[in-house]
Amino acid sequence: MTKKYDVEIPVLIVGGGGAGLTSSILLSRLGIESLLVTRYPSTTHVPRAHMLNQRSMEIFADMGVDSQIRAKGAPQEYMSRIGFLSGLAGGGPKNGHGRRIGSIEAWGGGYTDPEYVAASPQAAANLSLRRSEPVLKKHAERYDHAAIRFNHELVGLEQDAAGVTSTVLDRGTGETYTVRSRYLLGADGGRTVGELAGVQLSGPEKIMTLTSMYLSMDLSPYLDEAEDAVFHWIFNPDHPRHLGWGAVLVPEGPEWGRKSKEWVLHVTGEGMDASQPEKMVQWAREAVGLPDIDIEVLTIAEWDMGGYLADDFRAGRVFMLGDAAHKVPPAGGLGLNAAVQDAYNLCWKLAAVLDGRAGDALLDTYSAERRPVNQHNLDTAMQAAPAQFGAAEVMGLSPDKSAEENWAALRLFWEDGPGAVERRHAFTQWLGNLTLVFHQHNTDFGYTYDSPAIVGDSTPAPAPLDAIRLYQPSTRPGHPLPHAWVDRAGERTALRELIHGGHFALIAGEDGHDWVEAATQIAEQRKLPLRAARVGLGDVDFVDTRLAWTKQREISTTGAVLVRPDGHVAFRSAASVDDPAAVLSAAFRRILHTDGE
Ligand SMILES: Cc1cc2nc3c(=O)[nH]c(=O)nc-3n(C[C@H](O)[C@H](O)[C@H](O)COP(=O)(O)OP(=O)(O)OC[C@H]3O[C@@H](n4cnc5c(N)ncnc54)[C@H](O)[C@@H]3O)c2cc1C
Repeated sequence: MTKKYDVEIPVLIVGGGGAGLTSSILLSRLGIESLLVTRYPSTTHVPRAHMLNQRSMEIFADMGVDSQIRAKGAPQEYMSRIGFLSGLAGGGPKNGHGRRIGSIEAWGGGYTDPEYVAASPQAAANLSLRRSEPVLKKHAERYDHAAIRFNHELVGLEQDAAGVTSTVLDRGTGETYTVRSRYLLGADGGRTVGELAGVQLSGPEKIMTLTSMYLSMDLSPYLDEAEDAVFHWIFNPDHPRHLGWGAVLVPEGPEWGRKSKEWVLHVTGEGMDASQPEKMVQWAREAVGLPDIDIEVLTIAEWDMGGYLADDFRAGRVFMLGDAAHKVPPAGGLGLNAAVQDAYNLCWKLAAVLDGRAGDALLDTYSAERRPVNQHNLDTAMQAAPAQFGAAEVMGLSPDKSAEENWAALRLFWEDGPGAVERRHAFTQWLGNLTLVFHQHNTDFGYTYDSPAIVGDSTPAPAPLDAIRLYQPSTRPGHPLPHAWVDRAGERTALRELIHGGHFALIAGEDGHDWVEAATQIAEQRKLPLRAARVGLGDVDFVDTRLAWTKQREISTTGAVLVRPDGHVAFRSAASVDDPAAVLSAAFRRILHTDGE
């Protein structure tokens, strides 16, 4: 009998970027077979998406790739701030060139900001996709559950009540084949799947067009004051026509700080043309103020800063992830992070449904939970992007002034004179606005879910101190589990590690034996991966020696918190109840959408 389809697989993943590769690893780890197809023969050559926030690093820790990412990424001491520099050329800092005009701490200041240290066991990391994608690819290929096919492109898709039939082109041979899957993950950056599945994208207009030059050059002699910056924002008075938005210079590694061999320079302005490398090299030399520097062009790309959001992240058996579902201006670095976090929300649900432990309606909560988060991301980034304008003006610089006049304005930052303190303070005030970009801790880390896969406890949501900038830990259902280092047998562990490997976690107080017993029994009956523990002081499984959990848990010694495999609290009880087994069973029925049982 001839086979109806060339490949039959539970999940087809389309796209081998951050969203697709993360999904592949997460599904494999949960024992779900998948096939990933992606259009190009290799991982990306484009060095975008370098900031990996704390939440993504927590997810990478769960996936077992955090240490490889960190080993290749910038050391924390080179990640503390964004530096504003005058042009690099001339006699160096002594005459103003290459001098730091100001700086602002970013993404937790290289894990020195106490708020960021208290919030997570993971520091943010700095490694662009060009170097992180190969790490993810290698890891994804290690699992027997996953087939990874580069140079294979989805060209057709039809779905019915039972599954999705896709047509894939093998670009190496030119032949097509069919894939039948129960579900399809559209992680293709918004290029094909959305249109084929009828997903509508809507969103704001573009903000600006930028040209990003990926260059190899030796800047080590010119960057005396700039070792510790995630990136440098350069305003070079020698070339007034570059002073509008300035130029953003991002080290790319493989060594870091001033020793970086590769750099990305983001510029904007009249007359740029990505198709003319010679012209753009000239532009780059002027922007940094090094007219004679040797530059090797690796790539140049022009792109529009803007955003969109899919109206629904689910279309039947097709799910949209990452840029396929949402795009944001890269003000704060939310794009790749959100892609990774989409996958973390969806994959445990898919695995539970495919294994028969949850009802299909659980999958509706993917869009119900991730769409509002990504709407907030988009709103944050659209608000943050314009906050980056106006630096030149507040420094007293203008394209309409001569180079001498602009240098005179800038000199007030390092020479005392009339108006110097006022100028410096005006710039400091302007830097404060940039917390919208570089301190988005509630947006990028504290996001919460509200859906039928969360059992609310009727407590009011905490009033946000600042919905973008300030993360407020809470165990209220829907919130991410607050971080606490706890100890067992002399070893320190992060409480969130209880969920690693796709586990639910039941965390009870010191006197919560009944909760632990009930949760363990239910998990056995339902064949659910679950870890249950009592945490606190005294006769407990994990000792809260720093009282970090006690301070944040918002339950009594007889209460319990149930955490989903994606780290979000699904249910909590402030104290003991008469029948914890009945209460927890009802909670699991609700969370897993098995109400018909
Ligand atoms: C300049 C810049 C800086 C940025 N900085 C940051 C940052 O610091 N932090 C951050 O989090 N984000 C950042 N971003 C955003 C980030 O790059 C994206 O949001 C993220 O890479 C999206 O990942 P993805 O997997 O969804 O899509 P992509 O990376 O676009 O991957 C999609 C994949 O699908 C493949 N594909 C497309 N069509 C098909 C098809 N028909 N069949 C098979 N395969 C297909 C593509 O070839 C590609 O490999 C930045 C973006 C820009 C432009």
